[in-house]
Amino acid sequence: MNYEEYTNATEKLNLYSHHYYVLDDPLTTDEVYDKLYHEVLVYEQKNPQDTLKNSPTQRVGEFISEGFTKEKHLSRMWSLEDVFDADGLEKWLVKTYKLDKNISFYCEPKFDGASLNLIYEEGILRKGITRGDGEIGELITQNIKTIKSIPLTIEHKERIEIRGEVVIFKSEFEKINEHRLISGEAVFANPRNAAAGSLRQLDSSITASRNLVFLPYGVGENALEHKLLSEKMEYIYALGFRKPPQRAVCKDFKEIESIYERMAYERESYPMMLDGMVVKVNEIASQIDMGYTVKVPRFSVAYKFPALEKITKVKEIVLQVGRTGAVTPVAIVEPTDIDGVSVERATLHNFDEIERKDIRINDKVIILRSGDVIPKIIKVLLHERDGSEVVFERPTVCPVCGSELLDEGVLLKCQNLKCEARVVNSIIYFASKPCLNIEGLGTKIVEALFNARLVKSVVDLFDLTLDKLLSLEGFKEKKSQNILNSLQNAKGCEYWRFINALGIEHIGEVASKSLSDAFGFGFVNATKEQIIACDGIGEEMAESLLEFVRVNAEAITKLQNILCPIAPVKRAEADENPFKGKTVVLTGSMSLSRDHIKERLEALGAKVSGSVSKKTDFLIYGEDAGSKHDKAMDLGVVCLSEDDMRELING
Ligand code: NAD
Repeated sequence: MNYEEYTNATEKLNLYSHHYYVLDDPLTTDEVYDKLYHEVLVYEQKNPQDTLKNSPTQRVGEFISEGFTKEKHLSRMWSLEDVFDADGLEKWLVKTYKLDKNISFYCEPKFDGASLNLIYEEGILRKGITRGDGEIGELITQNIKTIKSIPLTIEHKERIEIRGEVVIFKSEFEKINEHRLISGEAVFANPRNAAAGSLRQLDSSITASRNLVFLPYGVGENALEHKLLSEKMEYIYALGFRKPPQRAVCKDFKEIESIYERMAYERESYPMMLDGMVVKVNEIASQIDMGYTVKVPRFSVAYKFPALEKITKVKEIVLQVGRTGAVTPVAIVEPTDIDGVSVERATLHNFDEIERKDIRINDKVIILRSGDVIPKIIKVLLHERDGSEVVFERPTVCPVCGSELLDEGVLLKCQNLKCEARVVNSIIYFASKPCLNIEGLGTKIVEALFNARLVKSVVDLFDLTLDKLLSLEGFKEKKSQNILNSLQNAKGCEYWRFINALGIEHIGEVASKSLSDAFGFGFVNATKEQIIACDGIGEEMAESLLEFVRVNAEAITKLQNILCPIAPVKRAEADENPFKGKTVVLTGSMSLSRDHIKERLEALGAKVSGSVSKKTDFLIYGEDAGSKHDKAMDLGVVCLSEDDMRELING
């Protein structure tokens, strides 16, 4: 990098920061930002005389937006030095051990949200200030008073600054974006931007509606006398703040590495986004000795997780036709490695999404791969367009059978029941795990059977013979026999599986269980009123079921005669107990598996549901309970710990 490139790079970083911190609408990924930042840092280390005053390395990155009163922190807020791998951590440890050998480390998640400083005086929350430039931030006290995990009073009378991160849970983020889409507003790129944007609202009621969560990670000015940070943090949590989902004191590199591996592995299961793990010297006296650089403390480091967001290019948009005829667009992107997986496709959900996000072929986009979900495009880099982008035309005919599509606005549908894609996908669905769980009948084999005209509907599966299968290319005796055995084993399945396997639109596993419990074999004769009276079944589902039965009565009987599903067994009535007839929701990690606890509660006559509502009688929470716990508290649902539950069960 030469001087000119250096000045360009700092300018670019400042532009990125403005979009990131002020507009909450990033122009690029953190990875791209971090890479450029490190190039700038290396240049400055080699040429300290050139260092620009406005270089992002010289100050905490945020800018203060207009509209809020500015407020000084009692003691300065800092950023964190980053390392990206074990090598970087080792170098940081060598550097830190040079300052002090007798140290241990407090490790906790690095929450991906917005920093917040809380000032309490005489046990009362007086001020909430954003990090700003580290010295001065925006005064947002009214807004943060709406955050339920921030206590308005604490049992600590001396003046204290409590610092932490405000985050939005991933589930909440999806809801907010769905809402914004419906009301035609721009969606937030990620939970971090959503949290920052929600905090800095001029109207506190908007902040209140966003269900923000505060997670403390340290203190500023304080008169606490603990010798260890770990003790100090336990004291803070005990004042009524939320604990992080994981924390540990480590004595050396090996222990830090091991907790990092665990946290990185488990990151998807946490309700909030983490972008790394923070390692802090645990001894307060050593922290004070080590002090700070212009920007970061010398006694801590952010050990980042591999990035989940990457920039790639849309090469093509293809159409998939599902078993219900729904036509879904999928983006084919330039292959990109995200956390060890090569990503080549991204879901586009529906055509409205393409229009709303204005996704065009040849666009550069930010793509996110998180957990098991299919990667998705979170943002188009509009400023990178060069005129080669092509608008994707909304199709009017089915890409598989050519019949005219029904345009329902958000959804496009192929209505041809004989469309190859619909038939093949309904056979694949029929054989899938939550349906008949027929081992060996995956996508490729079903396609081969269909293309050879051996199977044209699910009923034909049961007419397959060894000879027919052996006539297909690549089908040897063992493989063919296994398929026949799996088909044989599907007979005598549970009745709900039979209903689910029919692939009735809007009727999934839970509704199938409900129908099976309520009617058993009689579900085909149930009236609309009777169906709606079933747990969790609404009008649209009932209508879809009735229509399916009307059109397919003959095929249902035929399949039932082939599969001979077993009638649902009525559970023996449970003895009187506090859970009998109650609706219970489980959340957080428990000492036993959730399935195990669910079975136990169901045996006591409880109904275990997945989401909290006004109808919930009990919420049973384990460690690290998240938004369900918050919601239950809001609704006044009785919340029981796992131990409380046991006590109630044991009378
Ligand atoms: P940072 O977010 O990397 O780290 C410091 C911050 O981490 C602290 O201020 C605190 O708010 C937070 N934090 C979370 N958990 C913590 C914990 N347990 N202990 C202590 N602190 C914790 O640093 P930064 O200065 O806020 O921002 C720099 C980063 O922001 C860059 O690394 C980059 O990834 C991102 N950024 C991205 C863009 C973009 O365009 N995509 C632009 C600017 C900055």
